[in-house]
Order: sequence, then C-alpha cells, then structure tokens
Amino acid sequence: MHSDLIQQLRAREQNGLLRRRQTLEGPQTSHISMAGQKFLSFCSNDYLGLANHPALIAAACEGAQQYGVGASASHLISGHCLAHQVLEEKLADFVGFPKALLFSNGYMANIGIVTALLGRGDAVFADKLNHASLNDAALLSRAKLIRYPHLDLSVLAQRLAASKAKRKLVMSDAVFSMDGDIAPVAELLALCEQYDAWLLLDDAHGFGVLGKQGQGILFSDDCFNFNSPNIIYMATLGKAAGVQGAFVAAQPAVIETLIQFARSYIYTTATPALLSHSLLKSLELIAQETWRRDQLAQLIIKLKHELQSLRWKLSPSTTPIQPLIIGDSKMALKISEALRAQGILVPSIRPPTVPQGSARLRISLSALHCEEDIVRLTTALIGLSKSSDLLI
Ligand SMILES: *Cc1c(COP(=O)(O)O)cnc(C)c1O
Repeated sequence: MHSDLIQQLRAREQNGLLRRRQTLEGPQTSHISMAGQKFLSFCSNDYLGLANHPALIAAACEGAQQYGVGASASHLISGHCLAHQVLEEKLADFVGFPKALLFSNGYMANIGIVTALLGRGDAVFADKLNHASLNDAALLSRAKLIRYPHLDLSVLAQRLAASKAKRKLVMSDAVFSMDGDIAPVAELLALCEQYDAWLLLDDAHGFGVLGKQGQGILFSDDCFNFNSPNIIYMATLGKAAGVQGAFVAAQPAVIETLIQFARSYIYTTATPALLSHSLLKSLELIAQETWRRDQLAQLIIKLKHELQSLRWKLSPSTTPIQPLIIGDSKMALKISEALRAQGILVPSIRPPTVPQGSARLRISLSALHCEEDIVRLTTALIGLSKSSDLLI
C-alpha cells in the first residue's frame, strides 16, 4: 500500500503539482518572516490587514480573561457564550438579515448548510468554479449535484427548468476564490425566485471588502441590498475579518433548521469565545475604517497599470484577488520560485485547484501593502518575463 502512495506522490511531483507548506515565524502581515528571512507577501487573504491589528490582539487577550481559552463544549450543550450570541446578532444586523449563525469555519458552514437543507430527491446547482467546500457539501448531502459552466446562467436556467427535484438550491461563490470575478447576483436571484430555489452565496472573499462599510456582495454597487427570503448568505471570518470562523445569515426558519440539523454545527466544539470577542472589534474596524477598502482600490489600479504590457495577463478582476494567468503548471511554479528568490511570495495555483492549462500566480492584495510593494512585485515580474531561463 505504501509503494502505491509513493508512486502517486511521485507522479504529482513530476507534473509540477506537489504542494509544500511554508512555516511562518511571526504574524500574518504584508511582510512575513520564514526561516529567518523576510519576505514581501502577496499570499494571504488578510485583505484589510486586520489579522495582526493591535486592537484585535488586545480584544483577544480581553476575551481570554473574560471567557478563558477553550469553549470546551458544543453550542447545543454548554459552549454557546455571550460573545457568540452578541456577535451573531451584530452580524445579522450588519448584513441585513433577520438571523445569523456562527460556524467554526467556512468549510464546515458550507457542509452544514447544504446537508441540513437538502437530501435525496433534492438538487444542487453549482457554478463549475465554486470553492471545493461547496462541492464537498453537495456530495455529502446526497442531493443531485448539477454543475453549470462558469457564470453561464442560460445553462443554469435550462437545468433549473428541467429539474423535478423537491427542494432546489443554487450555490455560487460571490467572489470566485481563484479568479477574483464576481457572481451576477441579481440574475442568479431572479432565476432562483422564478424556479423556487434557494440561492446560497459564499461571500468568503467579499465580506469586509465589498460594500461601503464592508457588508459584502449584497451591498456592492450593482447589488444594492436585495432583500429576498430565497437568499442564504454565508461569509467567512478568517479572511478580511482577520480572525477565524464563518457565519450564515438567512430567514429564521433556515437558521433554526441549521441549529437542529446541521451536523457540522452540532457535533463539534464551539470556537473559543475569545475569537467572537475579537470579531466584535473586527466588525467595528471593518465598518469604520473605510480607508482600508480605498487603499485596496488604489493598489488594484496600480497593479493593473504596471502590468498592462506584460506577456502574462491579469484576469479581469476588480477585487483584491488578482490572478496572473501563466497556463503551464511547471512554468507557474518556476516563476513563483524565482520571485521567492527575490524575497517576494506569490503562490502558484495549479490544477486540480484550477482547470487544466490555467495555472496562475494568485496575487492577493492587502490594505497593508503600499504602492512601493506593488512596484517591487511588478518590476520583478517584468524582469522575469524577459529572462531567457523562463522561455520554453
Ligand atoms: C476560504 C473559503 C472557504 C472556507 O472558509 P474557511 O473559513 O477557511 O474554512 C469557503 N468558501 C470560499 C469561497 C473560500 O474562499
């Protein structure tokens, strides 16, 4: 059996697909330290630069004083603390829904939502480029999984029309995690209302980033806070919010169903209350410090401008996820390694995370970056694009 594993691992390495972990020796910020060396990092999802914010660190310490470290029980036994409860109320309010429910993380939230709401005889409709956790959730639910080509709503409409499933749910990343593009929420919602389906929006990358106060996709310019009972809104709290966790916001009957039936909610220890206590602070900063979103917008413009004549092209993304499409996996890895040798970290994202032939450097911007950081990255990329070592 072991030789089988080794063969599988070797094949992965030969295809340029072997993943390696890197060990951070300090906080997650725009300049990180690994193996005693400093790097300029474009790797994290800490879009607003809150993960290492002094006010959040202070709140975490205060939360630990107040609640201790571990929650030591699940929410339905005795792990549900005041900080969890208050945070759920504030989150619901912030995103404009009647109720919200916290989960330990986004992966578990998606698993919980889909498995609690759907089962055999039901159908899930999924964008092909959705996050893996949504696909896993659909498979685990035993509902029929029907995928549609990325953003192709005419195919989605046909498949909804043809479905005889009892309950239907359309699920989509709000901001696609490997492409940075945004789902057409108005059109998706119209289809869901027409065919009596739920719309599950996974706003892991939009919450904190989109909307004037960072309330996410439903408050972004072309969405204008829809108020539809069909929407189930999910966002994570370990990315722009800088801490850990996720929440679901929806109608009371949906939330109550999750509390009763979502196994990834019920059969797990509650997250430490100190995290919810910290998130209350994070939520304040997200809403108040609009300069963080303004800074991101400036950086995105700068990056696009600097790279406009590069031979590799940026995807048309208006979010802090800026993928530079390379194509070949080994080439993407080579560029990532060459940048690393210059003290710059940009992850290469390869299949199966992205489709074959679309390996890319996923540049993630943070409000902590400054224009000089962008210039350092773009100068290095332009240099590499001309280097003969990289020409195949
Ligand atoms: C990161 C991510 C998740 C998972 O969230 P975690 O809190 O990290 O488990 C789910 N969906 C999308 C789109 C993500 O990018």
